[in-house]
Amino acid sequence: MKKVLIVGTGLGGLSTGLRLISKGYQVTFLEKNKQPGGRLNQLKKDGFTFDVGPSFFSMPYEFEELVHDCGIQMPFDFMELDPLYTVHFKGDRRQFALYKDIDRLSAQFEDLEPHFKEKLTAYLKKCESLYNDTVGIAIKQNFNGLLDYVLALIKVNPKHLPILTKSFWNQVNQYFESKEARQIFSLISFFLGRTPFDTNAVYTLLSHIEFKHTGYYNVKGGMYTVVETLVHELLKQGATFHYDTEIIDYHSKGNQLVSLLDQNGKSWESDLFVINADAALFRGKVFKRKKYSEKKLAKMSWTMGYLTFYIGINKKLNEVEHHNYFLGNNFEEYSKEVLKNPNTLEKPYYYVNVVSKYNPECAPEGCEALFFVCPVPNMIYKSDWSDRDVIVNSIIADFSNRIERDISKEIIFREVYTPKDWEYQFNLYQGAGLGLSHDMMQIGALRPKNNDEEFKNTFYVGASTVPGAGLPMAVISSKLTVERILKA
Ligand SMILES: Cc1cc2nc3c(=O)[nH]c(=O)nc-3n(C[C@H](O)[C@H](O)[C@H](O)COP(=O)(O)OP(=O)(O)OC[C@H]3O[C@@H](n4cnc5c(N)ncnc54)[C@H](O)[C@@H]3O)c2cc1C
Repeated sequence: MKKVLIVGTGLGGLSTGLRLISKGYQVTFLEKNKQPGGRLNQLKKDGFTFDVGPSFFSMPYEFEELVHDCGIQMPFDFMELDPLYTVHFKGDRRQFALYKDIDRLSAQFEDLEPHFKEKLTAYLKKCESLYNDTVGIAIKQNFNGLLDYVLALIKVNPKHLPILTKSFWNQVNQYFESKEARQIFSLISFFLGRTPFDTNAVYTLLSHIEFKHTGYYNVKGGMYTVVETLVHELLKQGATFHYDTEIIDYHSKGNQLVSLLDQNGKSWESDLFVINADAALFRGKVFKRKKYSEKKLAKMSWTMGYLTFYIGINKKLNEVEHHNYFLGNNFEEYSKEVLKNPNTLEKPYYYVNVVSKYNPECAPEGCEALFFVCPVPNMIYKSDWSDRDVIVNSIIADFSNRIERDISKEIIFREVYTPKDWEYQFNLYQGAGLGLSHDMMQIGALRPKNNDEEFKNTFYVGASTVPGAGLPMAVISSKLTVERILKA
């Protein structure tokens, strides 16, 4: 039986393990933290339970394909979100509920944007065509080199070429005129860890996924149920897990990796190795590759950081829906600055998820669990987070103002993660929340590969290798990695 060692228990690592164990491999996981999941993690304290990172996912068929490929039943239940989320603008009492039903959605824009329904239909048609013409060719593929990649891209319908020269913001602006529609339909670019101004227009295909293709899903019992059930399945099939084990060094012989060394000097040998830790950072820090030296890593394009905080209040909160975006009134100025300028945090934009609305067991009776995410500069641009509480307090004050209820007096639980904490906990380069950005020069064959350049028995899976960030992408990544392993 061939042995495989997987470094990291993020969704990428777990789904790779599941695929390999179903093919007869003996699977062992090494994880630096005390519990599995990586960024898809859980914080449980004082009667409150929070999902630490992701709060919904799209493309559920990727999970369905995973369990089908592995010959198991879907181990968790997921429910569609409708509305997808709500959006609140500063100084405007109205809230926009993003329904997938186009008529219901359009009714909210009647007085703001003439012919909204026709415009939205035309916009989504273009997004759909982008999705259909690119995803199979450029995203769900392994490339053996640049030539292979170029040959694949040539197959993309040339009608999409002009879009490559545009930003997400420009593309949205071509279809909509009102400030509200432009901002709302640009929000999804933040899900890629950048802004509509520095994200290529090709990613408007995400709006097709959001509104038409699949929408978003919540997991019954909370997002961490995904991890718990996958780990349960892996244990049942004989996988072993070692926690508090951080890989810091290695031994190799010729073109084979022989063993990995943990922080206590223990050596872990195997036939095959899969690295779920960041594919760029691990190559630099552990394998000490020149191409990924500290200097080279600093020159790469990374996603923004996230200031996340987890709040328990001692009352129910009926003022907002489950998933909510709160926007200020300087969207363009803010978006152009947020990646690099810590001062933008004076006028923060943020997301609030009332976790316990659909999963009441996540808060004690009569209480509510709230998860806040605020996009912030990563540590390249803001390394000092001693002002974290000032920022958090200002967001709580802003939120209280907007919902016309002072929740600061109701807080009985509070935990804050700055980019520094994200870096420390999950080895994320400079606290960049989603890893390497999806810059056109960092995708496809230009992203760190999922097979190692030197060691023939070493592979990578997860957000900073192909295809990129997000939960469905982690599952696709596992498929591409296992394809590589089986062909090696
Ligand atoms: C705040 C936030 C919100 C998000 N929201 C969403 C969302 O709503 N929907 C969505 O689809 N995606 C979301 N994402 C993105 C999603 O969380 C990630 O893309 C995905 O979880 C990455 O999985 P992964 O397997 O690539 O890596 P990770 O989850 O980072 O797993 C890597 C694992 O490797 C371990 N590790 C690292 N180095 C070592 C080492 N040297 N030795 C041993 N172990 C090591 C880490 O501890 C970690 O457990 C969000 C991300 C963040 C930060």
